[in-house]
Amino acid sequence: MFTTDAHPTGRHFLQIPGPSPVPDRILRAMSLPTIDHRGPEFGRLGLKVLADMKAIFKTRHPVMIYPGSGTGAWEAALVNVLSPGDHVLMYETGHFAFLWNQLATRLGLKTEVLGLPGAEGWRHGVHADRIEQRLKADSAHSIKAVCVVHNETSTGVTSDIAAVRRAIDAAKHPALLLVDTISGLAGADYRHDEWGVDVSISGSQKGLMLPPGIGFNALSPKAIEASAKATMPRAYWGWAEMIEMNKTGYWPSTPNTNLLYGLSEACDMLLADGLERVFARHQRWAAGVRAAVQAWGLPIQCADPAVYSPILTGVMTPEGVDADAVRKLIYERFDCSLGTGLGKVKGRMFRIGHLGDSNDLTLVATVAGCEMGLKLAGVRLAGSGVQAVMDHFSAHPGGLLQGTPAAKEKAQPAMA
Ligand SMILES: *Cc1c(COP(=O)(O)O)cnc(C)c1O
Repeated sequence: MFTTDAHPTGRHFLQIPGPSPVPDRILRAMSLPTIDHRGPEFGRLGLKVLADMKAIFKTRHPVMIYPGSGTGAWEAALVNVLSPGDHVLMYETGHFAFLWNQLATRLGLKTEVLGLPGAEGWRHGVHADRIEQRLKADSAHSIKAVCVVHNETSTGVTSDIAAVRRAIDAAKHPALLLVDTISGLAGADYRHDEWGVDVSISGSQKGLMLPPGIGFNALSPKAIEASAKATMPRAYWGWAEMIEMNKTGYWPSTPNTNLLYGLSEACDMLLADGLERVFARHQRWAAGVRAAVQAWGLPIQCADPAVYSPILTGVMTPEGVDADAVRKLIYERFDCSLGTGLGKVKGRMFRIGHLGDSNDLTLVATVAGCEMGLKLAGVRLAGSGVQAVMDHFSAHPGGLLQGTPAAKEKAQPAMA
């Protein structure tokens, strides 16, 4: 068995923005025996998770569930709706947008990338008006798809997907809208149907609180129609066969049985809680962590408060301080993993994940680990982030009981 000597006592603080910590309840669900994926019991599980995932994406249309990572689901989206050499408009908000562009290019698509130039580009979300302008100029409708990232995990910046849809409509352009919500789904507000997204792409190891290993595509009728005409080679990722088999709860090839037990459990937890509550608590955690970073006097990677990520916060280190050296110190001394700076911000920032199976005290402890690490690394801090995050959580009640029947009872105690 694989063991690790990295965490001698207590729980490791997995505070990277995915994989996120997996709740014990989900781990237990996954420990059940693997069943026959062609048997009757499996069909019931299949139908349940397919229906549950529609609720999570907020769609009435089919959701594809693939054994694969988010990167695979990116590829699935592109190869199903596009043809070789198609012109695709992308928007670089950070490293994941950059990687998606690289993948599209390798597949033989002709990509065009919008975005703010230089370091500033990775501190803002999508400016939908730029997309509108570009599409208006494309009177021949040569652009076949617009690809944007909902929650840019490399920076902690979100993008307004509804505004991108409005931009495409305002330009009266037929391009499909493809959205990466790999780290946004089930942590940040997301509405596949209402926002008019044609393909939403996600993965299991972030807001869904599962281990890595599942990739998702949520489809629109327009995307399904496009897939019938598109000619990029596709085999494993092809939607048509999946849609057909999924009708009875089965898959063309072996699906991830035990991860689907976990997915079923995760959906039960999220839907019983209510997605609005899930989103609200991520917003609250994010505000607490940002209060800490602001108290330290360090810049937040996201430069636009309107699009701060509820999922993670990027912390920029002062000139001359290697953010990765700080991260390494925090890992070695305090058994806490933080996200590294990716691509062009490597060494310039680190990322604190506040998604999924977190709570106030795990986040206060995470901030404490960061604060100790920053001080040990010789960073002069303006003030105490630990105090700031405690103050924030104290002043903004959340916690287990908020909004539950038990909380209502507590708020109106029975007369003695
Ligand atoms: C994690 C992530 C990916 C990559 O997903 P993998 O599962 O690592 O392949 C892509 N985009 C975003 C926004 C992500 O957060």
